[in-house]
Amino acid sequence: MEYSRKLKPSPDLNGYFGEYGGVFVPDQLKDILVEINNSYLELRQDPGFIEELSSLRRDYIGRPSPVYFASNLTTEIRGAGIYLKREDLNHTGAHKINHCIGEALLAKRMGKKKLIAETGAGQHGVALATAAALTGLECEIYMGTVDIAKEHPNVTRMKILGASVVPVEDGLGTLKEAVDAAFMAYLKDPRTQFYAIGSVVGPHPFPMMVRDFQQIVGEEAIGQFREQTGTVPDNLVACVGGGSNAIGLFSAFLDEPGVDIYGVEPAGRGFKDGDHAATLTLGKPGIIHGFRCYLLQNADGEPLPVHSVASGLDYPGVGPQHSYLKDIGRVRYETVTDTEAIESFFRLSRLEGIIPALESAHAMAFAELLAKALPSSRTILVNLSGRGDKDIDYVVENYGERFGIPN
Ligand SMILES: *Cc1c(COP(=O)(O)O)cnc(C)c1O
Repeated sequence: MEYSRKLKPSPDLNGYFGEYGGVFVPDQLKDILVEINNSYLELRQDPGFIEELSSLRRDYIGRPSPVYFASNLTTEIRGAGIYLKREDLNHTGAHKINHCIGEALLAKRMGKKKLIAETGAGQHGVALATAAALTGLECEIYMGTVDIAKEHPNVTRMKILGASVVPVEDGLGTLKEAVDAAFMAYLKDPRTQFYAIGSVVGPHPFPMMVRDFQQIVGEEAIGQFREQTGTVPDNLVACVGGGSNAIGLFSAFLDEPGVDIYGVEPAGRGFKDGDHAATLTLGKPGIIHGFRCYLLQNADGEPLPVHSVASGLDYPGVGPQHSYLKDIGRVRYETVTDTEAIESFFRLSRLEGIIPALESAHAMAFAELLAKALPSSRTILVNLSGRGDKDIDYVVENYGERFGIPN
C-alpha cells in the first residue's frame, strides 16, 4: 500500500512527524520534556501500569464504548449507513478522559504534586479535574472568560471536583489565551507541576503520548465494527480541534487502504480571518505553543484570532501528525459551518435521541453530506466525541427559536 512507507506511526527521535512537531520551548523546559518522555516510554512498557490503565478504562471510564448503527438517521438521509463510536457515553461525557487518566497516572509516577491545564469547552478541565481527584493530585485549570460564560455547568463541575479554575481575560478570552496563561503558570515550577495538555498538540512527547492514550478508540472500533458488519468501514469521520479524538479513531485504520478518512474543521461564520478555525484548510506551517504545525497566522507568524460555535474546536494550531497526514494525502480535511453543525445537533437529538457535543456535531454534519453522496451499500463510522449537555443552554438561547424552542 502506497502510504505504509510514509505513515510514520511514531515521531522520530526529535519528535517530528515529517516536518511537523519538535520542541520549541525555553531551555529550562527542554530537560523536563526529556524526563517526561523517558518516564513515559518506561511506563508504557510497565506491566503494572498497563494493568492499572486497562482496569480503569473498564471500571471507571466505562469502556469499551459501543459502536451504534444510527438507523433512523440513515433512513432519513437515504445514503450510506452511519455508525457512531459512542465516546459521549464515557464517564465525564467525552473522549478526553482517555488521555487525562493516562497523563495523571504518569504525573503521579513522576512524583508531581499538581496538574495544570487549559480548557476550551471545559471538557478537558472536567476530565482532568476528575483524573486529579482519582489520583489524589492538585489541579489548576485556566479558562478564557468567554468560555467560562458559555460553558458554565462545566466550571461548576470542576469546582465540585476540587480543582481551582483561573479565569483568563486576555485577548478573545478563549482557548488560545488559556493555553498561554496555563503555560506561564507551568513555567514557574515545572518540577512539581505537570502540564497535562488537552490534545495531540504542544512539544514532543505530548502529541505522541496523548495519541497513544486515545488509540483505544480505534482499537475497539475496528473489532466492534467488524463484528457488526463483517468488514471495515468505508469511511471514517471525526472533528478536529487539536486532533485527539480524530487521531484516536484514525490510528487503527491508517494502513487499511480501503478506508477513506476525513477530519472536519470548523468553518465558523465563514472564511474571513477571525471567523473560523479551519487550520489545516487555510493555515500555513508555523510555530505555536512549542511545536510546528499548520497554523492560522498573520504575516509576522502570530496566531490569528479564531472562532467556532464549538469552544473545543477554536484553536489556531493543530496536531503535528494531522499536519503530516494532510501533506501525504492520507486524511482529507473538510469544513463545516456553525449553522450546519447546529442543524446536525438538532437532527441527531430528534432522530436518534442523542444530544451531541457541538464539536461532535461538526463531524455529524459532514458525515451526513458524505452519506447523501454515497449508495446505501457504503458505510461511515463517525467518532461521536462527546455529549451535548454542556451546550444546551447556549444552543437554546441562540438557536432555540429556529427549532421550535422559544425563550
Ligand atoms: C475537546 C473536544 C474536541 C476537540 O478536541 P480534539 O483534540 O480535536 O479531539 C472534540 N469533541 C469534544 C466533545 C471535545 O470535548
